[in-house]
Amino acid sequence: MQTRDEIRNIAIIAHVDHGKTTLVDQLLHHSGTFRDNEAVDDRAMDSNDLEKERGITILAKNTAINYGDTRVNILDTPGHADFGGEVERIMKMVDGVLLVVDAYEGCMPQTRFVLKKALEQNLKPVVVLNKIDRPNARPGEVVDEVLDLFIELGANDDQLEFPVVYASALQGTSGEEPEDQQETMDPIFKVIMDYVPAPSHDVNATLQFQITLLDYNDYVGRIGVGRIVRGNMKVGDHVSLIKKDGTIKKFRITKLFGFIGLKRVEIESAEAGDIIAIAGLEDINVGETVCSVDDPDPLPILRIDEPTLQMT
Ligand code: GDP
Repeated sequence: MQTRDEIRNIAIIAHVDHGKTTLVDQLLHHSGTFRDNEAVDDRAMDSNDLEKERGITILAKNTAINYGDTRVNILDTPGHADFGGEVERIMKMVDGVLLVVDAYEGCMPQTRFVLKKALEQNLKPVVVLNKIDRPNARPGEVVDEVLDLFIELGANDDQLEFPVVYASALQGTSGEEPEDQQETMDPIFKVIMDYVPAPSHDVNATLQFQITLLDYNDYVGRIGVGRIVRGNMKVGDHVSLIKKDGTIKKFRITKLFGFIGLKRVEIESAEAGDIIAIAGLEDINVGETVCSVDDPDPLPILRIDEPTLQMT
């Protein structure tokens, strides 16, 4: 086993409008992942119209943020109960979650829904109380509400010790206390570093990589997104794809993609703990496992129940 201290994989979860998109934009800006003169046209988490049109919207976007020497992968998560399967699959790719709650509105139905999923997956949440700048913000009460919700949803002792950071994503401030706000996102990055475990995997074992989300690109066709569970892969490798019915297809990896900021970038190789995307086989579907040709060992089937993915 090898611990990859240079990586954190987290999902960001919240009720709609509590500020996920604004917060991820701020984290990007403050980390310097974008050069100062490089405008961010798209808001971080907005889904791509083309993908929407094709009906294979992945609905979740990976934003990779370099903070010092650490790469933080932040996976967006749909809050709606129709996408329970997708939420579960995303949670299997991460080691922690960032729960964003509006400091005025407090816990809402989708807060409960996504938090329940995270707690079930044994993930340790970090809580961000956002919109602390709102005139009617009531951070003390809302933290109590969040704690009550954790208890009600059966959080374990570890999970109950969640750290809280107070923030105004809109104004670009955060801090350990509501009245102690700094014009930086460092307090948020620091709790992520301290509380979310780094991935720990066997990078020398035979490859296992499960397709968790689908994406599409006009040049390379269908793209499977997921986390490498064990082993490693590189462009040109011959691998086996285990279909859901157990049949095996062999293919060659033509392209591997990593992420920088909001962009997908080509990479040559990747290893266990990395969240990556893979191209080379049109007939790739959610839940299928890519493994080494010599050791075809499928991962357990994933739940798929969201309407947009029932298209093949
Ligand atoms: P999402 O649905 O969780 O992605 O939420 P958005 O990031 O799109 O934010 C929803 C609305 O809340 C937008 O109008 C934001 O400008 C606003 N908003 C986000 N963060 C803050 C904040 O810290 N303070 C205030 N006052 N408004 C915010």
